[in-house]
Amino acid sequence: APTTIQDLTYWPNINTVDRNRTQLGRENATLYMLVRNSELHEALASMRELEDRFNHKHHYPWVFLNDDEFTDEFKLLTTGMASGKTHYGFIDPNVWNIPPHTNITKMLECVQDFTARGIIYGDSISYRNMCRFNSGSFFKHPLLLEYDWYWRVEPGVHFYCDQRYDPFTFMRENNKVYGFVVTIREYPETIPTLWKTAKEFFDQHPDYIAADNALDFATTTEKLSSDEADIDPTLGYNMCHFWSNFEIGNLNFFRNNKYSEYFEHLDKSNGFYYERWGDAPVHTLGLLAFANRSQIHHFSDIGYYHLPFHRCPHDDASYSTGRCLCPTNHNELVDFQPFSCLQRWWHYGGRQFLFNFNNEKA
Ligand code: GDP
Ligand code: MN
Repeated sequence: APTTIQDLTYWPNINTVDRNRTQLGRENATLYMLVRNSELHEALASMRELEDRFNHKHHYPWVFLNDDEFTDEFKLLTTGMASGKTHYGFIDPNVWNIPPHTNITKMLECVQDFTARGIIYGDSISYRNMCRFNSGSFFKHPLLLEYDWYWRVEPGVHFYCDQRYDPFTFMRENNKVYGFVVTIREYPETIPTLWKTAKEFFDQHPDYIAADNALDFATTTEKLSSDEADIDPTLGYNMCHFWSNFEIGNLNFFRNNKYSEYFEHLDKSNGFYYERWGDAPVHTLGLLAFANRSQIHHFSDIGYYHLPFHRCPHDDASYSTGRCLCPTNHNELVDFQPFSCLQRWWHYGGRQFLFNFNNEKA
């Protein structure tokens, strides 16, 4: 019982929760976070914002995955922050760790070389495990097999806008498989052979390639305006990718044999360990090849931050209605930087924009 803090005596129910975790959202969907125990506070901060902006009205469940056992503290506090049910999964070491077909000696040489060259995360094997897991395995984890849709959330991100409609419903009704908010160029040093390896697979499986695929988004090299950074035409891939720390996607797309076989092909080449392939370009190339361009959606109405980039909606109404709070000037948004691929997406992408979707559903 409270003894010293006056407020707790005055409002005796201040710390009681009677949370009805019954899901109200109508989709078979989950909020998904891969996270370490050490990131508890950042995880809670992301959850608080997404709950306030969106999920408190829907009570979608949260799935947390980890290559280590979650602590009791992690489970207690994240369950407290969630409005829906929470599920905690351990990742099988055989799935997470370096696979048997990787030559450890060769990998260590590569890691050393990447470290010496100062390539971002080049020195980290756990980062490589994470990228490979997010590229080819998260959607097969037993806890995620239950669902059709996921919203990937990372610790320490920000959501700047009220989410006034259910994005999962939007995706389903509009036959989308993937939604993103930020698209930028990858560091070419991290993926020297990714394009070549992916292209091998695409060439071997012409029947897997979608009729109206969006591979041109990744392969075209002409600049659409002088605002864009130069593109090296010798690479075959212009490095444009969907930033995967935010994703709203259809799990069945990834579980489908086309994407699965594509991942297996990439994995056999060991690029996740001999180089430092990120899951973002891996997802992106698979999506561009196997989905039709209209199935990939830019959520232009969502405001988001992941270190070090902000993106916010560009229209006035998002702010005059109080729906969004953008913490930075628009010319500082990642959307308008030379390495952004947003303009390129608008040119080659879905070309389908639904107007007033939020307003109609609000
Ligand atoms: P960055 O966004 O590329 O800088 O990489 P992060 O450090 O944010 O990692 C991406 C995601 O994977 C985040 O959700 C992390 O919490 C998670 N993550 C990264 N490494 C590990 C790891 O070794 N174990 C676990 N369980 N999660 C990890
Ligand atoms: Mn991150």
